[in-house]
Amino acid sequence: DVILSVKNLNATVEGTPILKDLNLEIKAGEIHAIMGPNGSGKSTFSKILAGHPDYEVTSGEVIYKGQNLLDLEADERATAGVFLAFQYPIEIPGVSNLDFLRVAYNSHRKAKGLEEVDTFDFEDLVEEKLEIVKMRAEFLNRSVNEGFSGGEKKRNEILQMALLEPTLAILDETDSGLDIDALKTVAGGVNQLAKPDNCTLMITHYQRLLDYIVPDFVHIMYDGRILTTGDKDLALKLEDQGYDWAIAEFAAVG
Ligand code: ADP
Ligand code: MG
Ligand code: MG
Repeated sequence: DVILSVKNLNATVEGTPILKDLNLEIKAGEIHAIMGPNGSGKSTFSKILAGHPDYEVTSGEVIYKGQNLLDLEADERATAGVFLAFQYPIEIPGVSNLDFLRVAYNSHRKAKGLEEVDTFDFEDLVEEKLEIVKMRAEFLNRSVNEGFSGGEKKRNEILQMALLEPTLAILDETDSGLDIDALKTVAGGVNQLAKPDNCTLMITHYQRLLDYIVPDFVHIMYDGRILTTGDKDLALKLEDQGYDWAIAEFAAVG
């Protein structure tokens, strides 16, 4: 089954075209990686999928589980199972991580017509999930992301993901700033959460995350479009040879 289908997507920021006829299809059970030089539009694409208000879609379509994703507000997309882990997770001083996660979790349950989970039951649930990201329970009592190291912030994002169990998980540069242990933990979490009925879109500038999360498809993005698609070997070629050959080989024809 196709979960996400993006056809000829064009989008602008403040009138400047950023995405230019972007096409992408992701099926259930697949892990996709988008790689590309800085400024290619990778983060723009992920934010547009999540419903960020700064970006204007000027043409094209985004179909998610058979419905027009662009018709949904950002919060409706989230409760419909679209999850975006940000490149730069926000800090929320004064709000405990536990409360933040519980509110997010319950809002998803509410949107699905399910009963809210009380504090005690939620603590049990979240403690189970802590294992996936190898986080200590004390993190739950700290303010959201405040004073967290880069690695802790990313683990926290994966914890959110573990709780919300998205159908489409989008990870934007989740590997940036991670030491090797945090990288392995985050990758292990993503691998554990990838199931036959969901899909993962990893956006990354570097190849090293793909040593631990093996994608089914690797797409090279440049200047707002997908230049070419391959398998994990394409990422290795990029690691070895950089992006220039791909731009020379594919950007000229398009
Ligand atoms: P990537 O994630 O691939 O590095 P981005 O999506 O962040 O690329 O950026 C793509 C292009 O869009 C860049 O030229 C960037 O400067 C521009 N851009 C992105 N967001 C904004 C914004 N809010 N306002 C102006 N320009 C933006
Ligand atoms: Mg960037
Ligand atoms: Mg980016």
